[in-house]
Amino acid sequence: MITIEPLQQYYQELLSVDDISWSKYLLAKDLLANKISVEDRETLIRKALECGKEQAEELKFKYPHLDVEALADRQGAKIQISCDLTNDSFMRFAEYLPPLQININWTPLKEYSKLLETNSSIELPPSNLLYRVILGHELFHLIEEQNQNIYTRSQKFVLWKFWGYCHQSSIRALSEIGAMAFTKEINQTYFSPLLLEVLLTYPINPTKAANIYAEIQGVANR
Ligand SMILES: [Zn+2]
Repeated sequence: MITIEPLQQYYQELLSVDDISWSKYLLAKDLLANKISVEDRETLIRKALECGKEQAEELKFKYPHLDVEALADRQGAKIQISCDLTNDSFMRFAEYLPPLQININWTPLKEYSKLLETNSSIELPPSNLLYRVILGHELFHLIEEQNQNIYTRSQKFVLWKFWGYCHQSSIRALSEIGAMAFTKEINQTYFSPLLLEVLLTYPINPTKAANIYAEIQGVANR
């Protein structure tokens, strides 16, 4: 039987982790980013966060009365909900498939919601809010696809040079940092969207969630 109390503790502890630290956690997972100097990394993080926030502000300015679901609809998104089985090594909450498809896996949300029901006195964000956070994240990727010059896509780095040939690549983590800032702004959440990694993993695999928690704490306290 999985108890909710450890999750409550992770949540409380992680609320104080700021967006820069969450971004460092994301960037640390990106192999290419490890080749970039510390100063450059900080600039990249700051600009990717700004980019996500600005995109959200623009949309909110254009459509002040629409929530994230209506905004996704406006942008032409085709949302599909499925209940994919999850396994321990790999769990996907959602995916964006160009040009317009957003697939959302309902299983982690359902398990999270079941866990919340076991203790109504616990203060954790409701699963419908987590759904909107996920949707906002994927919506940012859709907007990126529609706007290839966007900062999070246009920053290219030299991977290797050989005989005058220069191979460049964009940094995947910048897109994720932008998506985090975007969905946070669109949904006006007081918590980082990256908290979902812990919140939604825990009901399915508490050990893995504990590892993610420890990893984030490690980055945040560095
Ligand atoms: Zn993403």
